[in-house]
Amino acid sequence: MRKPIVAGNWKMNKSVAEAVQLVVTMKGELLQFGGVERVLCPPFMAVPDVARLLAGSGLRVGAQDMYWKESGAYTGEVSPLMVSEFCQYVIIGHSERREYFGETDESVRQKIVSALAHGLIPIVCVGETLALRQKDLTERWISGQVRAALQGFSAEQVAGMVIAYEPIWAIGTGLAATAAEAERVCGQVVRAALAELYGQSTAALVRVQYGGSISASNAAELMIQPNVDGGLVGGASLKAADFVAIVRAAAEAKA
Ligand code: PEP
Repeated sequence: MRKPIVAGNWKMNKSVAEAVQLVVTMKGELLQFGGVERVLCPPFMAVPDVARLLAGSGLRVGAQDMYWKESGAYTGEVSPLMVSEFCQYVIIGHSERREYFGETDESVRQKIVSALAHGLIPIVCVGETLALRQKDLTERWISGQVRAALQGFSAEQVAGMVIAYEPIWAIGTGLAATAAEAERVCGQVVRAALAELYGQSTAALVRVQYGGSISASNAAELMIQPNVDGGLVGGASLKAADFVAIVRAAAEAKA
């Protein structure tokens, strides 16, 4: 059985004080849902405070990105050593990183190598644009991104990763994929590509999240899908009640 995972990606939102307040507001309720891996990914400035608040609680902390080198003259970057001091997870290859900050399949792969070397669980993001979807190229694109990101890793390494299928047209738009679409891509495209590369038994262990305009109202139907092992949540993770409702939906769907 795969433990479902719901991660909140706060992106570039919340001051440190606001981040602390958000955690204080929702921590107690989140603690109820031990059957779901609950991960908060605040902006870097708030990571240490959030990590201290969550220490020993079972709730996890994730970084939204990191560089692959350990130290040196890389102005502005955050190293895996720094991330692993506070975090258990790291989001890698989010479409906003790919679009605005020049992330490529190769930089994604290098970051995954580095994350694993530092004991971090990578949440590897893949997703197609609206243009690709309209040209009916979703399957080819997603399976290509999965293959490019995961080449060279062992089945054991892949089994411990999380893949987030996040259609770009659904991110921050309020237009989530339908539950059937999310299930089809998470199962018949992402998990199928994993099975081709690493075999069915490894593919069956990998957690595949859906992300893109998950809300308190659509979470239940998305989370009940057999190949959707939770969600990567952006906007709704900034509101305590909404994020708790999404985690609750995952807990109930997978109970
Ligand atoms: C995201 O950016 O990972 C995301 C899914 O955002 P939203 O939930 O706001 O669409």
